[in-house]
Amino acid sequence: MKKRGFAAVIIILLLIIAVFKLTEQRSGSADSADGLIQEIALRNSGQSLQASEDQLYAGDLLLVNGDYPMRPQGTQPDVTELFGHSELTGPASLLDRDIRLSRGVAMKFVVMADAAANEGIEHFLISSGYRDELEQSRLYKEKGSDYALPPGYSEHHLGLALDIGSTEGPMAEAKEGKWLEKNAARYGFVLRYPADKTGITGISFEPWHFRYVGLPHSLLMQKNNLVLEEYLAMLEKKEAISTTVNGREYVVCYYGPDRLSELKIPKGRDYALSGDNRGGLILTLYP
Ligand SMILES: [Zn+2]
Repeated sequence: MKKRGFAAVIIILLLIIAVFKLTEQRSGSADSADGLIQEIALRNSGQSLQASEDQLYAGDLLLVNGDYPMRPQGTQPDVTELFGHSELTGPASLLDRDIRLSRGVAMKFVVMADAAANEGIEHFLISSGYRDELEQSRLYKEKGSDYALPPGYSEHHLGLALDIGSTEGPMAEAKEGKWLEKNAARYGFVLRYPADKTGITGISFEPWHFRYVGLPHSLLMQKNNLVLEEYLAMLEKKEAISTTVNGREYVVCYYGPDRLSELKIPKGRDYALSGDNRGGLILTLYP
């Protein structure tokens, strides 16, 4: 009798655990994301890190648009003049001598443009890169709100965006534009203002405007057909995702303003931190 009673207690306990587990699973994807973050932390004995104010407003994934103006920390620290530096322009020509861009982004651009040139697509023309507020103000006055954003609200202030044209004709029709639209994501760049997302970006189709966000983000955005506004919203919702590029695993974790204290950096793993310009932080763990 005693043994039977004991077995009954065990069965009841197991049933309670099973019901608890089921309820937990039903409460959505956030649980699995939490699980992923904890798993990474445990596997790599994560080290807590306190993000500084500057880190929240700097990095490759900052969102700058009509709702989120630029903060001074957002400009890439390595903005440089491109003219006279063929290692920073590759096969592309420059519209004028004053064009500036993040040196690191220019080097990524060259890798991309060289790959295109290998396929016979080589008539690239860089027409704009980094713009300070004075230049943006001049452009805004000159071209009006249909073409330019008011100073402080343009991605060009980051040093991560560039306008790429073709010497062969308008980008919407040129081979250069078609190649970039298809392949830029493999090199960390995204077509920032696509034709089918004008309702979300608030900007009309700009086949020339490319933005560096880095890997694996550009590929995740392309695969899921998301612009930066939507991609950040997805990360915020999921909190953590992993993705495989060329057989190597990347993990992306999002920390909203209320979860910044949970930030943990796995030991011995390469990573990057970027703010989103909305008070959140994205941790990218490289393979
Ligand atoms: Zn542009």
